[in-house]
Amino acid sequence: MIETQTVGTVPHVAGELPGPRSAEYLAHQGRWESNARVYPRNLPIALAGGAGSHVRDLDGNVFIDFLSGAGVLALGHNHPEVVAAATEQLRRLTHGLDFPTPAKRAFVDAQLSMLPPGLRSRMKIHFCGPAGANAVDAALKLCKTATGRGEVVSFQGGFHGANHAAMAVTGLVAQKQPIAHGVPGVHFFPYSSCSRCPLGLTEDSCETNCAVLLERALRDPLGGIPRPAAVVMELVQGEGGVVPARREFVRRVRAVTRELDIPLVVDEVQTGCGRTGTWFAFEQYDIEPDVVVASKALSGLGLPVAVILYDRRLDVWAPGAHTGTFRGNQAAFAAGAETVRIMRRDDVLGNVRRRGEQLGRRLAVLRDRPWVREVRGLGLMWGIELASPHDGRPATEYARAVQARALRTGLILELGGRDNGVVRLLPPLNVTAEVVDAACTILLDALEHCRPG
Ligand code: PLP
Repeated sequence: MIETQTVGTVPHVAGELPGPRSAEYLAHQGRWESNARVYPRNLPIALAGGAGSHVRDLDGNVFIDFLSGAGVLALGHNHPEVVAAATEQLRRLTHGLDFPTPAKRAFVDAQLSMLPPGLRSRMKIHFCGPAGANAVDAALKLCKTATGRGEVVSFQGGFHGANHAAMAVTGLVAQKQPIAHGVPGVHFFPYSSCSRCPLGLTEDSCETNCAVLLERALRDPLGGIPRPAAVVMELVQGEGGVVPARREFVRRVRAVTRELDIPLVVDEVQTGCGRTGTWFAFEQYDIEPDVVVASKALSGLGLPVAVILYDRRLDVWAPGAHTGTFRGNQAAFAAGAETVRIMRRDDVLGNVRRRGEQLGRRLAVLRDRPWVREVRGLGLMWGIELASPHDGRPATEYARAVQARALRTGLILELGGRDNGVVRLLPPLNVTAEVVDAACTILLDALEHCRPG
């Protein structure tokens, strides 16, 4: 495998972090790069190379990478066959605006082939500016144009990106606070976030009242919301703290949106391309959305590409309605088609399900620990919510200490959720059982070692 010799497959960290070379790069970054930079603040390393599930920093430390470029690296770092497909394409044609090309055609055919058969013939695809947020914007514009309506319903706890409109439908308040006058007409409803029920109910009294609230508001002539252009949802809220939606909730949202002819947009930027064990997470909820937003893992390699797949009855927008210069990344298309081929050949979706079960089994020991409020996940998207057993407040400092200790012992993890109190795991989808085991050992040690007294 590319780089394996230099990256290694066993995590090892020598000395304090950051090491001297990383420290020098971080200082340079601090001097010249924006204050809005984020990942290296809690993960203070400079990256040198990667191979599969491992990454090496400039000081020669090797880490298991369960951040995977924020879920981008479906097949890990530098999968040799995907790199070869992209490299070959680079020699042929790199950029193609939205002209048809063989690379794009293979990519489109590969993506369509992964859709459930009933949906495939109904869908069209639009190439967006190459980021999830741009594709969310495109989805909203599509639905507004097709319905002639202006309101949008979104869910508390959701994350849809950092563009103006994507941020407007995002639930995470801190990022929105400094940006006055976001996109108007967005209405937030509670999500089925059961570890902290937004309606304050317990498991016993829950009758998916969050869905009832939405149903009643949309149907009620006194509900205050003109019929929306779209309802936008994640099926597992990723940045919001790895919260898989309840099945009943999703099915009811689908039912009411269908009844009222409101396009349902599922944001599968993070859950898509196999992350949850099916190609798209909506398949596990037995629903058919009207619009699917996909990006992150589409190329398998971190080369940027973003699309919306949508019901062709919505395809009434005009030529040029959603343009963007960088919509023709041929290397990303070649890599993406190759990624789909490898996923099929190697039964990567089966691996996601098996490794997900393995993670669930290893993390089950945490369930009765006092500072662990909940362990939850779907496929290879897992979160451990840490909270004070005394007052239920998110245990932000504990989570940060776990992240730092895990890094020092060779595992890269991300935080998320309310006040960053959730430790998140996003391994590559082809991660091996051995690597999952090694990562769990490091994680469990960090949770034990850093536990507040
Ligand atoms: N939607 C979801 C569900 C995401 O998780 C993200 C990013 O994390 C986005 C949209 C935004 O994607 P991007 O950062 O590529 O704009």
